[in-house]
Amino acid sequence: MKLKLLAVMMAWGVGAGLANAAVTQDMIDKGSADTGEVLSWGIGTQGQRFSPLKQVNTDSIKHLVPAWSFSFGGEKQRGQESQPLIYNGKMFVTASYSRIFALDAKTGKKLWKYEHRLPEGIMPCCDVVNRGAALFDNLVIFATLDAQLVALNQDTGEVVWKEKIDDYSAGYSASAAPLIANGLLLTGVSGGEFGVVGRVEARDPRTGKMVWSRPTVEGHMGYVWDKDGNKKEAGISGTTNKTWPGDLWKSGGASTWLGGTYDKTTGMVYFGTGNPAPWNSHLRKGDNLFSSSTVAIDVKTGQIKWHYQNTPNDAWDFDGVNEFITFDMDGRRVGGKADRNGYFYVNDAKTGALINAFPFVKKTTWANGIDLKTGRPNFVPENRPGDPTQSADAQKGKAVFAAPGFLGGKNQMPMAYSPDTKLFYVPSNEWGMEIWNEPVAYKKGAAYLGASFTIKPIADDHIGALRAMDPTTGKIVWEYKNKAPLWGGVLTTAGNLVFTGTPEGYLKAFDAKTGKELWKFQTGSGVVGSPITWEQDGEQYIAVMSGWGGAVPMWGGEVAKTFKDISQGGSLWVFKLPKH
Ligand code: CA
Repeated sequence: MKLKLLAVMMAWGVGAGLANAAVTQDMIDKGSADTGEVLSWGIGTQGQRFSPLKQVNTDSIKHLVPAWSFSFGGEKQRGQESQPLIYNGKMFVTASYSRIFALDAKTGKKLWKYEHRLPEGIMPCCDVVNRGAALFDNLVIFATLDAQLVALNQDTGEVVWKEKIDDYSAGYSASAAPLIANGLLLTGVSGGEFGVVGRVEARDPRTGKMVWSRPTVEGHMGYVWDKDGNKKEAGISGTTNKTWPGDLWKSGGASTWLGGTYDKTTGMVYFGTGNPAPWNSHLRKGDNLFSSSTVAIDVKTGQIKWHYQNTPNDAWDFDGVNEFITFDMDGRRVGGKADRNGYFYVNDAKTGALINAFPFVKKTTWANGIDLKTGRPNFVPENRPGDPTQSADAQKGKAVFAAPGFLGGKNQMPMAYSPDTKLFYVPSNEWGMEIWNEPVAYKKGAAYLGASFTIKPIADDHIGALRAMDPTTGKIVWEYKNKAPLWGGVLTTAGNLVFTGTPEGYLKAFDAKTGKELWKFQTGSGVVGSPITWEQDGEQYIAVMSGWGGAVPMWGGEVAKTFKDISQGGSLWVFKLPKH
């Protein structure tokens, strides 16, 4: 397939509609306090995924029924990891294979759709997913698997601008929802398994033109652009070769593949960074900044204000990309993050100082705790996969069993925080892997791991565990165990409810205080998307994507038997209470 046509666009029945009032930063900054809209991924830029709505609550939820459903159609069913957005009675929802749909939020009627024409040779590591879009002005903006950004008119679906992020043939791709912060469009990149260079970029959301770029691998130059589009150097990230030996930083990974969060009170955007490349840690002695970290960037300047590295010299593919959700704790603005490495961290949102670090999974072999004084993990050296150059044939280093496995104590599925219960709701998994290192050299567009692995279960009866966690004490207040690995996001509401989906196909609701399961609905395929809620004409709606896929069926190894019977199927489900 040649890339002759960049895109195919189809529009239905939109001629008669009135143009929307423009989405502004002030509207976005209201977050979920504006219960009629869902304007950003994370249901507010802080990413708390909390709604003050309570028409649907622990008493009324038993009556919750489907209002409508929508199929994403054709053969492109699998891998629906997205979170829908709601604005002005319209739902904007991305689907797998770089598609986006606009639907009537009340009836499910399709208004328009856009299918991005993907070239041959794209290299997404972990299925054909997309996690959502951003709204600004009269645009809806999303990223594509061939590392482009596309901005469409909310009313018509017409492409207003399109910009290339980077070269897909070098392994770059994009699947995260863009973030709107301080009037800018913030995006990251995917491709850590191919030795790309991670970065965060800010653009003018109206035009797609660059404003600043900040690399997340130490040694690379950042840039700013003036109003006329002139590019100027804005300083190197860190200090070249301080934490990386030789030339490895030039293909150092630290991809920012899950996007970021924004806290208006600190003026910072928080992006997590993926593994340093390659996975074989013996090739890159040092901490390898700013990989497997939380990086806080001044949204105005694009300068790194602080970083906190969850896994220095990562040897297990413990991508530190998971969302950093800011909240108030003991009168202080802090952020919580459930890292892939199995530890839950609380850092000061202004300074990055480590306040708390607790395990949120049962088994962590690579470290036996985090030192709150130094902020560093207490590594267990014998549990690091061995150096292949020390083996008899110099081909295979010592294999170790590592927990969590590289799919993580928690992966891409976003957690939620309730200011009512003051608990985080963490979709976690209990699994490990056998891992060993092998020789590897960087080659553009080729997998750059230097490691092999097999994912293994730990317990007989479950892998998934939704856990309610107190960020002040690390106490797990309740947990719900699930047989298959959890891969869907979480929503919590003032109705004292927590929603999440399961690979077995259920959207489930739990009592936020006790964990009691109150309601479930079978969607027909595995749920790996993130639920939302909003209010329209006096009724509370809840929506979630269904469509099994993502990294687990691709990389699941010996845990595949827990999900072998799951049906494919890509659809959106919307629920509400019946009218009396
Ligand atoms: Ca990775």
